[in-house]
Amino acid sequence: MPRTVTATTRLAAVIGYPVRHSMSPAIHNAAFEACRFDGIYLAMPVAAGRAAQAVAAMRSFDWLGLSVTMPHKQAVMAACDELTPTAERLGAVNCVFWRDGKVVGDSTDGEGYVRGLQADLGVSVDGLRCVMIGAGGAAGAVAYSLGQSGAGEVMVVNRTTSKAEAVAGLAGDAGRVGTLDDLATADLVINATPIGMGSTDLADDVAFDVTVLNNQAIVSDLIYHPAQTPLLKAAQARGLRTQNGLPMLVHQAVAAFEHWTGMSAPVDVMTAAVQSNLDT
Ligand code: NAP
Repeated sequence: MPRTVTATTRLAAVIGYPVRHSMSPAIHNAAFEACRFDGIYLAMPVAAGRAAQAVAAMRSFDWLGLSVTMPHKQAVMAACDELTPTAERLGAVNCVFWRDGKVVGDSTDGEGYVRGLQADLGVSVDGLRCVMIGAGGAAGAVAYSLGQSGAGEVMVVNRTTSKAEAVAGLAGDAGRVGTLDDLATADLVINATPIGMGSTDLADDVAFDVTVLNNQAIVSDLIYHPAQTPLLKAAQARGLRTQNGLPMLVHQAVAAFEHWTGMSAPVDVMTAAVQSNLDT
């Protein structure tokens, strides 16, 4: 049964280009409905160079907030009144919300990763020796949050060393550039490359050799499609604990939902919404 849209209904939206593939409308509309929150969430194709106009529309029309995806994650920063320390440090925004009459930009991916690991596997990153494979935007967000959450070490391994240095720097004192030799003593290894992602020419590949890991290591892949990458299958075959990218995806949305509504998010409903979207 569709929800009733009335004069009090608030609008939230994801802006990006392309954006018609986004799972965010399914996740957030399911969450609004489950919590009986009077909101509706749409996907809005916003061309490159028009992020500021989208934020201006949010102000003019008193929208609830925005999710921000490519190509606007950097450009939208200048249109916000304030940035959270996370968005400031990462130089990227994926969520825009109102706080005390001001438009605030945040980056919730890294927080989403750390919260997802806790919620899904019951694992706190506090004190963990972490190896990050890859040094793109997702790696940076996760490395920052690992550092903020007390990870013991964040060793970044990447084919382009300058990017590994930049991402290691985001983890603060815990961060350094690593090598594949660091895998042997890692507690948590994170694949933040597209290696193993479905519908790419890397779909059958693994980012690293799981046989060198110790028996307690956790293998985490930021990819959620397919649910089981070749890397995760190999790790499971070795009897290791694994996690795919779905909890991160859900929990970055949980953090956005909390910013917009002030309510605690219906995590199970949001997870089911992603799951059914992936299954179709
Ligand atoms: P990105 O900015 O393009 O970075 C990709 C990284 O992977 C780069 O460091 C790149 O190395 C490395 N890489 C790419 N191809 C490689 C190859 N063939 N061999 C070795 N290294 C390779 O991508 P991103 O946005 O950070 O995304 C990374 C992954 O995270 C993707 O699989 C994406 O789907 C996933 N992700 C998941 C979520 C979630 O919510 N679960 C959110 C965001 C992203 P160079 O630096 O040398 O180019």
